[in-house]
Amino acid sequence: MTSPTNVPQNLIRPDKDMFLGEENPFESMMSRFDFAAQKLSLDPGLYKVLRSPEKQIIVSVPFLRDSGEVEVYTGYRVLYNTSRGPAKGGIRFDLNVTLDEVKALAAWMTWKCAVVNIPFGGAKGGVVCDPSQLSNAELERITRRYTATIIEVLGPDSDVPAPDVNTNERVMAWIMDTYSMHKRHTVTAVVTGKPVSMGGSLGRREATGRGCMIVTREALKRLRLPIQGTRVAVQGFGNVGSVAAQLMEQQGMKIVAVSDKSGAVYNPDGLKLRDVMQHSRQHRLLSEYRDAEHITNAELLTIDCDVLVPAALENVITSQNAARIKARIICEGANGPTTAGADRILEENGVFVIPDILANAGGVTVSYFEWVQNRAGYFWDEPTVNQRLERIMVESFAEVAGMSGRFGLNMRIGAYMQAIERVAAVHRLRGMYA
Ligand code: GLU
Repeated sequence: MTSPTNVPQNLIRPDKDMFLGEENPFESMMSRFDFAAQKLSLDPGLYKVLRSPEKQIIVSVPFLRDSGEVEVYTGYRVLYNTSRGPAKGGIRFDLNVTLDEVKALAAWMTWKCAVVNIPFGGAKGGVVCDPSQLSNAELERITRRYTATIIEVLGPDSDVPAPDVNTNERVMAWIMDTYSMHKRHTVTAVVTGKPVSMGGSLGRREATGRGCMIVTREALKRLRLPIQGTRVAVQGFGNVGSVAAQLMEQQGMKIVAVSDKSGAVYNPDGLKLRDVMQHSRQHRLLSEYRDAEHITNAELLTIDCDVLVPAALENVITSQNAARIKARIICEGANGPTTAGADRILEENGVFVIPDILANAGGVTVSYFEWVQNRAGYFWDEPTVNQRLERIMVESFAEVAGMSGRFGLNMRIGAYMQAIERVAAVHRLRGMYA
């Protein structure tokens, strides 16, 4: 197995290189894009344009360790498509960040913003690093240097970052400050997912998980399945998974399993979610939680449940385990959790997949609300944010279901078709500057 230099082996995802064909995220995204484009009879010129990222930036990020030693990390920012508006998408700090991954995630952001019909293009960024091995001061220096290095693309009208894997409100505050220092005035709308006290939106932190809950509820209704007592397993207990679990429980669903990177806890009669939440809020690993059965992360994916919410990382549902999945519905809280090979198996087995670009679009939708509020200088209360999010998620679910029904295709391809059609329509109207 090849690995970046100086990276401890145990921090690399063990299966990273094993099924590279199946697991290359850009190939994975493209295979769905190609299929949807063909179904739409997209014209060959536009097909070529939409397959290519607009801009790919690779930067070196030098910074000082607390020890005084100089370290140089690699950072990326990819603007995939900006035809519908400013580029939008998170920044992740992770050892597994690669250019191909960032390209795929930037494309997914483009389709995601189009699926929920918000006026943004798609982008993504990343720095190859392991934040758990960095001090707060080191993280701040990396964030500021990365921001300053890509500053020419950033801006409320051009490219607006947000949190993603291993980044949070605090990182957004540093980006906003660095950008504002360079511009010589405070520019809140340059990032979303900021602390509420400095221009963040109420409800943003919960938005992705809330969106997952809403589309799962819509899927249950569509399949004429009860909400009460529906058994849910959630992989990943971070910002997305923990909120989704809580809100689903509030709807009457039963959370039977949750996991973090240390492992999963399981109780077929329903976990005491409040206890589990409290345990993890104290920064304790789920493997140390006492009051439930322990299973592995891999086992969680195939346990007996009605709804499975993969809310961690890419490529967890592959052709290797898809046939063993028992859930009737998969709600993709993470980006790219299911490979194209797994999609085929799930479809054959009648599993209803709510694709990532719809299922986790609640986050970017409230990011849009935050950007709107920043630009208007007028803030909404939380019920207003949640009601508007609810409306967009319910409508988008219905539109995707309508598209997939009309063509007799699954929800993922329906979502891609909806998105590609919207992006393509704008390209046709704008024409080509050549
Ligand atoms: N990182 C989140 C996502 O993948 C949010 C992006 C945003 O709010 O711009 O959708």
